[in-house]
Amino acid sequence: MYDYDLLVVGSANADLVIGVERRPGAGETVLGSDLAVHPGGKGANQAVAAARLGARTALLARVGDDGHGRLLLESQRAAGVDTAGVLVGGAPTGVALITVDPSGDNSIVVSPGANGRLTPADVRAAGDLFRASRVVSTQLEIPLETVLEVARNLAPGTRLVLNPSPPQPLPAEVLAACDPLIVNEHEAKVILGDTAGAGDRPEDWARLLLEKGPRSVVVTLGGEGALVASPEGVARVPSVKVRAVDTTGAGDAFTAALAWRLGAGEPLAEAAAYAARVGAVAVTREGAQVSYPTAAEVAAL
Ligand code: ADP
Repeated sequence: MYDYDLLVVGSANADLVIGVERRPGAGETVLGSDLAVHPGGKGANQAVAAARLGARTALLARVGDDGHGRLLLESQRAAGVDTAGVLVGGAPTGVALITVDPSGDNSIVVSPGANGRLTPADVRAAGDLFRASRVVSTQLEIPLETVLEVARNLAPGTRLVLNPSPPQPLPAEVLAACDPLIVNEHEAKVILGDTAGAGDRPEDWARLLLEKGPRSVVVTLGGEGALVASPEGVARVPSVKVRAVDTTGAGDAFTAALAWRLGAGEPLAEAAAYAARVGAVAVTREGAQVSYPTAAEVAAL
């Protein structure tokens, strides 16, 4: 009945990465390594992660009419994502300018570019995509008013998965539509704001987040796995022991995998356990999109 297992509404960025011995100060120039250009952005990452697992996936995003936009469209198509919903033009493609020093620390400047021009009207115009999708997944690298329109535009029976990253306080209408809201520790603390008694226990964050209105909550805990919370209770999802080499984009792979398995009818704890396996494979490899596994690779873990 549905054409797509997952519709991702979100950002697409070109990640421009240069290795440096040290960061330049104000007014200073330093020489760095050769430039590496990678497709990124949380929306683009989630769509590639889902498609690689075998989910029938569509992306609603906006890129510029430029080389970075073409690179992003190409990487989506290569992964098997339906890009008919990717809008082109209005601003340059979003870019993340990343410098990495020898200790592996990043400094990042993001220019949202076309991501900032994905409007509520663009969401309304994609009604057919929404009606054709079992699950919709989004993040906060696009305007909040656009995310609000995503929540309003859901077809009856379609489930919304939101990873509020980068985090900011959310309108009650968005929170109420989330099933689940997926947060890491930092995101949990921003969404909870000054909620009294949040404390240091992820179980408490999950319960307090649930009180803010989402139908379910997932708290990801890096190498410690995750927690799932719904009105039925809170449960731990064990982590998978692996040797992590690069955690970039692990959260996006986790979210995409969880959204896909929920759409397939799995209970939240089971879907999260599968997503944890996907995240675990992703951290054993360098990079974001190139680190995402196929379903066969997850099964072989
Ligand atoms: P984010 O990137 O959003 O901060 P996390 O770092 O919590 O998200 O990672 C998302 C998921 O990926 C985790 O819940 C876990 O399942 C998996 N993961 C992340 N880091 C590791 C790790 N070191 N070992 C095993 N699994 C990991």
